[in-house]
Amino acid sequence: MAVLSPFPRKATSLSFDDKLKVDNTDMSQFKFKVENEIGDSNLNGRTGVITTPHGEIKTPAFIPVGTKATVKSVLPESMADLGAQALLANAYHLYLQPGPEIVDEAGGVGKFMNWSGPTFTDSGGFQVLSLGVGFKKVIAMDEDTFRSDEVIADHKERLAHVDNDGVTFKSHLDGSMHRFTPEVSMQVQHQLGADIIFAFDECTTLHNTRKYQEKSLERTRLWAKRCLVEHGRLTRERASKPYQALWGVLQGAQYEDLRRKAAKDLGALDEDGITFDGFGLGGALDKANLGTIVGWMTDELPRDKPRHLLGIGEPDDLFVGVENGADTFDCVAPSRQARTSAVFTNDGRVNITNAKFNRDFNPIDESCDCYTCANYTAAYLNHLFRSKEMVGSTLATIHNERFIVRLVERMRTEINNGDFQEFKKDFLGRFYSPSSK
Ligand SMILES: [Zn+2]
Repeated sequence: MAVLSPFPRKATSLSFDDKLKVDNTDMSQFKFKVENEIGDSNLNGRTGVITTPHGEIKTPAFIPVGTKATVKSVLPESMADLGAQALLANAYHLYLQPGPEIVDEAGGVGKFMNWSGPTFTDSGGFQVLSLGVGFKKVIAMDEDTFRSDEVIADHKERLAHVDNDGVTFKSHLDGSMHRFTPEVSMQVQHQLGADIIFAFDECTTLHNTRKYQEKSLERTRLWAKRCLVEHGRLTRERASKPYQALWGVLQGAQYEDLRRKAAKDLGALDEDGITFDGFGLGGALDKANLGTIVGWMTDELPRDKPRHLLGIGEPDDLFVGVENGADTFDCVAPSRQARTSAVFTNDGRVNITNAKFNRDFNPIDESCDCYTCANYTAAYLNHLFRSKEMVGSTLATIHNERFIVRLVERMRTEINNGDFQEFKKDFLGRFYSPSSK
C-alpha cells in the first residue's frame, strides 16, 4: 500500500503566470454548481463544485488552516499531496506580520507561500474580538449557566474594544494599537489576495445577552453593507488582479429568529449590483444544537451560493455540518492536535506517546493512505514525540490533515451514492465507541 502521492499534484502543476492571466472584472472566474442533494427533505446537505481563479474545490471539503501562510510544520507540496484542495490563512495574523503590503508585493498569499491552489482568508473579526477572551467556536458548556456582555465591556483592561464603526485592538505581538473597520478588513484582504474572503463581522459568544445579540446582529448587517461597497470599489481599483469572491458572515448565536434573519438579510444585500458570492456560518455555536442552527441558516440562504462553516473540524461536527448544508469547513484542530501527539484512527483519537505504541511497528492507522502511514510506524512516531524531534509534528500533521480531508471527501462520495446516512452511522459508531480505544 506504499503510495507516496495518492493524489495528482494538480494544485502545483500550473504556473502562477498561467493562472493569473485573468482580471477581476470577469466575475465568471468564480462559480458554484450544486451537483447532488442528500435526498432527505429535512436536510440541506449537497455536493457541488466551487470554481475560483486558482482552481476548483469539490464540496463538501475540509480546508486546512495555514494561519500565518503556513500549515505549521508541513510543506505546501505535502498539503497538495494529501488532497487539500484549498488553504485558509488568517487576515489578522498576516496584517500584523509581515504586513499586507508585503504579501501584495509577493503576488498574494498563495504565491507568497508557494501554494498555487485556491486560498481563503478570514476577515480578522474572530481573532480581533476574541483577543484575550479565549472563547471557542463551539462551547459545550450549558449556555444558561452564565450570560453577560462582559466579554465586550470596556471598563476592564482587555485587548479589543468594539464600537459601531469598528474594533480597536492591541497587537498580541508587541502591544501596539490597531483599528479594524469593515473597510480596513476589505483593504487588507484584497492585498492578501485570497480567492475567497470574508466580510468583517462582530463575533459574539453564547454568553452575551439576547439584547446584546440583537444589537450586534444589526451592527454586523451594517458592516456587511460597508464591506460590499468597499469590496466593489477595490475590485474596480485592482482590476488587473484575479477576481476575489466575498462571502458574508452570519451571526445570531443560538437564536432561531436571529439566525434566520441574518441569513435572509445578508442573502438579499445588494449594493449597486455587488452581492455576496457565498456565506460564512459563524459565531457562537452550541455543539448540541450545531445541526439545528446550521439548518436554520441554510433554509434561508440562496441555494445557488456556497456556505462555509467557520472553525469546525471534529468528525461528529463535520457530519452534522455537511448534512445540514455546509459546503466547506476549516479548523486548526487537526494540525494543533497533531503537534500535541494526538492522532486520528478509525477507532478514535489516540495519543501516540502512549507506551503501548513503543513496539507497534504498524502504521498509525492501517486503513490510512497518507504519506506518514505508507512510510512510518507508530513506534517511530512514538519515539519522535518522546524525544521531542520536530519531524514528529510534521508526520503527525500530515496524517491528521489527510484523515479529516479524506473523511469529508468520503462524505461527498456517499452523498453522491445516496449512502451518506449509513456511512455516518458506521463511522461515528466506531470512532466514538468507548470499547474500540
Ligand atoms: Zn495516515
